[in-house]
Formats: sequence, structure tokens, C-alpha cells
Amino acid sequence: MAHSKALLVLENFIGGKFVPCSSYIDSYNPSTGDVYCRVPDSGREEVGAAVKAAKAAFPIWSSKSPLERSQILNKLADLIEHDLEAFAQAESMDQGKTITFARTVDIPRAVYNFRFFASSILHHTTECTEMATVGCMHYTSRAPVGVAGLISPWNLPLYLLTWKIAPAIACGNTVVAKPSEMTSVTAWMMCKLLEKAGVPHGVVNVVFGTGAKAGEALVCHPNVPLISFTGSTLTAQRIMEKSAPHCKRLSLELGGKNPAIVFDDADLTQCIPTTLRSSFANQGEICLCTSRIFVQRGIYSEFLKRFVAEAKKWKVGNPSDPTVDVGALISKEHLEKVRSYVKKAQAEGARVLCGEGVDSLALPTGNQKGYFMLPTVIAEVKDESCCMQEEIFGPVTCVVAFDTEEEVIERANSVKYGFGATVWSSNVGRVHRVAQRLQSGLVWTNCWLVRDLNLPFGGMKASGIGREGAKDSYEFFTEVKTITIKH
Ligand code: NAD
Repeated sequence: MAHSKALLVLENFIGGKFVPCSSYIDSYNPSTGDVYCRVPDSGREEVGAAVKAAKAAFPIWSSKSPLERSQILNKLADLIEHDLEAFAQAESMDQGKTITFARTVDIPRAVYNFRFFASSILHHTTECTEMATVGCMHYTSRAPVGVAGLISPWNLPLYLLTWKIAPAIACGNTVVAKPSEMTSVTAWMMCKLLEKAGVPHGVVNVVFGTGAKAGEALVCHPNVPLISFTGSTLTAQRIMEKSAPHCKRLSLELGGKNPAIVFDDADLTQCIPTTLRSSFANQGEICLCTSRIFVQRGIYSEFLKRFVAEAKKWKVGNPSDPTVDVGALISKEHLEKVRSYVKKAQAEGARVLCGEGVDSLALPTGNQKGYFMLPTVIAEVKDESCCMQEEIFGPVTCVVAFDTEEEVIERANSVKYGFGATVWSSNVGRVHRVAQRLQSGLVWTNCWLVRDLNLPFGGMKASGIGREGAKDSYEFFTEVKTITIKH
């Protein structure tokens, strides 16, 4: 395919230098359907060069004090923040998300990821115990592991990549990062700031390309002892298989099929707007988005009426318009996949109350070929339907009725995933009871997506292995040793 000169062409960032690649992949602007960028199609050779650079940088970086590393991370946070608007524009164009979401969520959080780990690395302590009867003292020491392989998805590109880079380098590791081939631009922009922030050459290397080529080369590289991966459960299974011969340390943050449980004593004035956000924010493309809403029978009709009326008000359109609530989905293939779930639900006898196939979508002239879809609410879906079991990862949510606490816990737990659940009730005893019994790594009650980065983040069952957060990331990105001294 012929390309005009106006295309943005990315390069790998290896050993502190931008390096061209011998072949490239087209990257699309999801809101227009046009190719606008070319991303290196890296493979074993490029990954090998990046790992070599990271390995060479490790002795110097790992011997710096936490305070020295902290200062560099803070500088990088300042530089990204200084360019926040440019990063937000780029993220919106590359991913299809609204400019408002990129400005208020993605880029501020990327900045905060560096600030947070710049601070938290200064506050860890290790353990010490004494065995006076045998004259021994034991203590633990922690050291960085080496070259960390970091692989991230397309839904929150810079946000999730920096959630890995920041703790990895704060702990003294060097990294080779591979962002999603569909959303590589902001990672490349960040590379331009590393030298100015004082990050030594080779500490952060970014290799662009597909999962099958670049991702797998990283997973299989013998000099990369740990992999932090965020993405789908299917890819995680492949990563586990491929890394098994090397016994690599893995942190896996995966998919979800997150329930919201609305009891009849819930404050609907809070619950409805928050559940709309938890269902449709970022086009429903957040691993923690709600996709199964269980509503107690006494308030089911009222909830549904109000929820659908509000969902219809969400404006879909050009992501760069600050009044738009829903931007474009990531790709044509993904849009078709999400739509196919709505068709399957209809074929099974469920009712589509608004959105796809029911309401018409009017798009601006320049966005006619973009990958847009209306927020879609489906009712009367059977629990065993694929819409209630599989991750759809788009602006589609299912609403069903329940009768008792016992019943809803069992139904909420009856999927393979276990990531984030939300419980709505004004009964304090009940929210504690239900939270204890839900099979979810995170449970929010009467709110959604409120995060303290100090605390463990991650899923159970098919939603992940391991946790990340201040202490958890420190433990993952360092190797612990127990030392015993006889006096
Ligand atoms: P994906 O698994 O297709 O890809 C994720 C990353 O892995 C990409 O960089 C991709 O290139 C790479 N990859 C693909 N195949 C690979 C392989 N064989 N070896 C190594 N790397 C490979 O996921 P996606 O479609 O980009 O993202 C959506 C998924 O991510 C959803 O399932 C979503 O729930 C999940 N997600 C989870 C979290 C979380 O924190 N748990 C956050 C965001 C997204």
C-alpha cells in the first residue's frame, strides 16, 4: 500500500537512541478509519538489541540509591505533565477515546504513576527477627531482578505502560517495554523525554510491534527473568506456556466480566450515573467495566427505565469534541466482534433496550468510516448466554433481576473471571458480607474505580495472577533474600 509523506513514522527506542526498523505495520485512526501512522514491526533481532542494552545498563542503574532514582522519576512526571495536552491529543487520536477522557484520566494517571512510585520506593522496609536462644539474627534484603519485560494493551495505553515502567525502574530494574501495536504513539513520545529527565541510556527501551513477533520474542528471551503483562486471558495462557521453560516470574493482569449488584435499598441517584460510567466509560473498553448488572426485583423496572433513559443521553461522535461521551472503538474487527454479541443476544430472545440495532447513530461527515457504536443495554439475558459469560469489552451491558442476597452472590460468581465487582446498598452489614463472598480481586461498594495505588490491584480466577500496587509491585520487581547471622 502506498503511503503519503504525512504519515507519522515511529522508531524503536534502544539504548537511548531512536532506531528505524526494516519493516512497519499500519496503524489506524479509529475515529476516521484512515491509516495515519506506521509502527515498527519488530522481531527477535530488535528485541535482542533492546535486551542487550537493558542488560548493559543494569549494573549502574541498580546501584543508584532509591533517592537518585526517585528524583529522575519525578522529573519524568513533570515533563509528561508539561506536555499533557499534546499527549492527550495523541492518545485520543491513536486509541479513539474522547479527548476529555485522555485529558482527565489517561495522561494525569501516567504522570501520577511516576510520582507515586518515586515516592513509594523511599518508604519500604525489610524484616528482621532474632532467635536469642541460638544467638542468631535473621533479616531480609531486596534487590532488583534484572531486565523486566513489560507488555501492555491498547485500551489505556500510556496509563498502563507507565503503571509497569514506573515501579520496575524505581526498584532498580532496567526494562524492555512493548506497547500494543495498535496504540504505540504516546509510548514513543515518552521516549523523547527520557534523556531530559535523566534516565540513563538503556534503562528504558521500547520495542514496537505485534504480540506474535515482538511480544513473543520478549517472553522467550533468556535474559528477561520477569514479565509483567496486561492483556487478554488467552494471550496470558500463551505467555505462561512460552515462558515456562525459563521458569520466569509473571504478573498477569487480565480480562473481566464484572458484576454490579444493586440492592433495593441502593441510592439510585448515585448508583445510576456511576453504573452508566462503569458500563460505558472509554467505550466500555476498560478491564474493570461493568457488563452484568444484577438489580433486585423490587426496583428492577424503575432502575431499567431510568438507566436506559440516561444511556440514551450519552453522546457518541468525534473524540476530539469535548462534549462527546463515547469515542470510537479500537478497530473495525473489534467493533464487529462487539456488535456480534448484541446480535447473539437478540437471537437468544434477549431484549435490546437501546443502542445497537435499535437507535440510529448520526456521525459527523469526517467520522463516517470510524468505528463507532451507541451505548447498548440488553435485558432478559440468560446467565449462561455468551453475553453474560464472555468479556465483550465494548459499550454493551446486560441488566437482569435477582431476588435474594444468597442467589445474587452465586450468580455473580458463576463466570470464569474474577476482577472487579460493585455492590450498591445502604446496609453496611450487607455490603461487608457480600464483598467477602464475591470472587473478585477488587470490590467497590457505592462507588466505582476509586483507587489508592498503595493497595493491591489485580484479579482472581481467569482475571489474573499476582497483584500490583506499592508493596506488591515492590515485591514483584525485586528478589528477596533471607540472611542469617550468628553472633
Ligand atoms: P491482548 O492480549 O491481545 O494484547 C495485549 C498485549 O500483548 C499487546 O501488546 C499484544 O501485542 C501483546 N501480545 C499479544 N500476543 C502476544 C504473545 N503471544 N506474546 C506476547 N505478547 C503478546 O489484549 P488487548 O486486546 O490488547 O487488550 C484487551 C484485553 O486486556 C482485555 O481482555 C482486557 O480486559 C485486558 N485488560 C486487562 C487489564 C487489567 O488490569 N487486568 C487492563 C486493561 C486491559
